[in-house]
Amino acid sequence: MRLSPLPRQGRNLAGALLACAGNVRRPLSAACILTHRCNFRCTYCDIPDRAGSELSSDQWLSGLRELRDAGLLRASFSGGEALLRADAVSIIKGAKELGLTTSLNSNGWLTHAQLVELAPHLDLLMVSLDGPAAEHDAARRKPGSFARAIQVLREARALGITTTSITVLTPANLHVVEPILQLAEQNGYWAYFQPAYLECFGRDRGLQPGLGPQVLADISQRLVAAQSLGRPVGASPGYLRRLALTPGGSRCENCRAGRQFVTIMPDGTFVPCHLTADERTWPSAADHGFAKAFAQMPAVSPGGGCAISPYQELDLIFGLNPAAVRTALRRLLKPATAGQPH
Ligand code: SF4
Repeated sequence: MRLSPLPRQGRNLAGALLACAGNVRRPLSAACILTHRCNFRCTYCDIPDRAGSELSSDQWLSGLRELRDAGLLRASFSGGEALLRADAVSIIKGAKELGLTTSLNSNGWLTHAQLVELAPHLDLLMVSLDGPAAEHDAARRKPGSFARAIQVLREARALGITTTSITVLTPANLHVVEPILQLAEQNGYWAYFQPAYLECFGRDRGLQPGLGPQVLADISQRLVAAQSLGRPVGASPGYLRRLALTPGGSRCENCRAGRQFVTIMPDGTFVPCHLTADERTWPSAADHGFAKAFAQMPAVSPGGGCAISPYQELDLIFGLNPAAVRTALRRLLKPATAGQPH
């Protein structure tokens, strides 16, 4: 009897498990930076200064198809502000039609119409939130941006999209951890936190002054305590442990960036993570196509790791850290309990 072949998603899941267990190169997750342009100028961010050439939507979609055929399971979309591209929704829709899990990072300046269009194609929406109204609007340099971000988080949840906030912690807003957790409880989303870096594209420049080891250990301890009380802390315990040990909680040469997850810059350059973007000339999808660009990525050079929450969570998940895998599954399975984040 001839067994019918596993459907592609089953094959890709099985391939992913083998790749994770053996720590072999396979593109499992792609962070697609659609543009560096942004309609905001946040105090801690220099990304919009990099705005330049961008792949077309056809290049993104044919490239994601190549990666999907090579094993890709997930595509996350971000910027700058990804939705400044008129074709962002259709790229996300196309990624979903390829069978990928999709997520979008946004500053929350979305319209209701964009959300309704996105809802069937988006598994997770992550909105940047820098604190309550005064702190958020000051950091974002955009009056009214807090109210709009909260409204978008509520509307997205009502449309069935799993929602999270992400808060960049700087020496100026360390006091917002508690109010952000309260907002997450009131509005039903998961709250993530990550320390600000001096420069968005340079791991060697390190964290913002004032975010020393003692401060990070303190933040970690507070989040661990909140999590143990069942509060909506999005991070996995593994990330919080690494945060408490930053710098030194992770090492770049051990990281799965570039081996199992990759960041694709707006012009098609494949980099392990955005912090390594300036270290060397990395392969470009514009020259080689997506699958070859991934296959040709050199190893990350040794370094002191990072405290970037999404990257560290992926490193833990693909390293089959049980708590990180459980945390990720909890997001995907969307528990429907009233009042709980989904
Ligand atoms: S540890 Fe952080 S900076 Fe180093 S390669 Fe991984 S994601 Fe990049």
